[in-house]
Amino acid sequence: MGHSNDMMIRFPNKSANEGFARVAVAAFVAQLDVTVEELSDIKTAVSEAVTNAIVHGYENLKGYITVKCKICDCVVEISVSDSGHGIADIEKARQPLYTSRPEHERSGMGFTVMETFMDGIEITSALGVGTTVVMKKKVSAGQQD
Ligand code: ATP
Ligand code: MG
Repeated sequence: MGHSNDMMIRFPNKSANEGFARVAVAAFVAQLDVTVEELSDIKTAVSEAVTNAIVHGYENLKGYITVKCKICDCVVEISVSDSGHGIADIEKARQPLYTSRPEHERSGMGFTVMETFMDGIEITSALGVGTTVVMKKKVSAGQQD
């Protein structure tokens, strides 16, 4: 029997909410029998995506971030959306070490971290409209008994 479930949270672009989103997704995913390492990978990826929405998406703006999480059998799909500035060149943004804000001590490794810790990431973005990052990860085991 397949197992499916989903959730959605929405919160303003305050840095305190990065930790909230990371823990909320981890708590939701914990209904699967995931390993500590898988859970840690997911938390790291969520943290990078939400931080990007706060720091880059809404630089100098106020807005809301939506995090959706879907579980389908052993696959976890997480999307992080903002309605902020958008990304002009997604291919460039994805390159390791590329950052538009070197003066803010960013290392340009967020998307690389998401790619490394998840099995796939898709970025859609439009200038002045916003950005959505969808990340998928296949985890080792299904629903807990
Ligand atoms: P780090 O994540 O290492 O602190 P970074 O955030 O600059 O540095 P990435 O997370 O890889 O590096 O993002 C690369 C670039 O993509 C950013 O510098 C920014 O220009 C752009 N970017 C990423 N996410 C968004 C977003 N949600 N909205 C607008 N621009 C974004
Ligand atoms: Mg980043």
